[in-house]
Amino acid sequence: MSKIFVTGHKSPDTDSVCAAIAYANLLKQTGHDAVAICAGDLNKETKYVLDHFGFTHPQAVSHFSQVLGPDDKVVLVDHNESKQIIDGYKSMNMCGVIDHHRIGDFETDGPVFIRMEPVGCTNTILTKLYIENNQEIPKNIAGLMLSAIISDTVLFRSPTCTETDKEMAH
Ligand code: MN
Ligand code: MN
Repeated sequence: MSKIFVTGHKSPDTDSVCAAIAYANLLKQTGHDAVAICAGDLNKETKYVLDHFGFTHPQAVSHFSQVLGPDDKVVLVDHNESKQIIDGYKSMNMCGVIDHHRIGDFETDGPVFIRMEPVGCTNTILTKLYIENNQEIPKNIAGLMLSAIISDTVLFRSPTCTETDKEMAH
């Protein structure tokens, strides 16, 4: 069975790491084999959040060849521009992008699941995806997701914060 690796961007922030874990969990709850990885060393805030909610730190990967088998796929969360993607992305099989940033220069070989919304945080979109898929969010995952929304919207004060972010945080 092929595995789906979910990753955020280089210089990972709390949203990108928590989004990778939250989406990998949603994929697992819906019958896929998925694992979260991260594109570099975790910052202090992210470490605090993961430790607080009892998560082990996802594997830091600098080149996709370190983890990807020939049948494995990749989902990008919280980024889409090539300069932010883990090295070696040209040879990988991208199957999804979930993001809240401008669309950059990414290109794929095959069809891709894409979900982009102009909201303040990727975890806001992921909360909607859990709801749309009738999936319950486990308490510790919800903790990560709320932390990411608070972090990315600077406690709902950033100019990018929307009503949707507040609703999903609630
Ligand atoms: Mn980010
Ligand atoms: Mn973000």
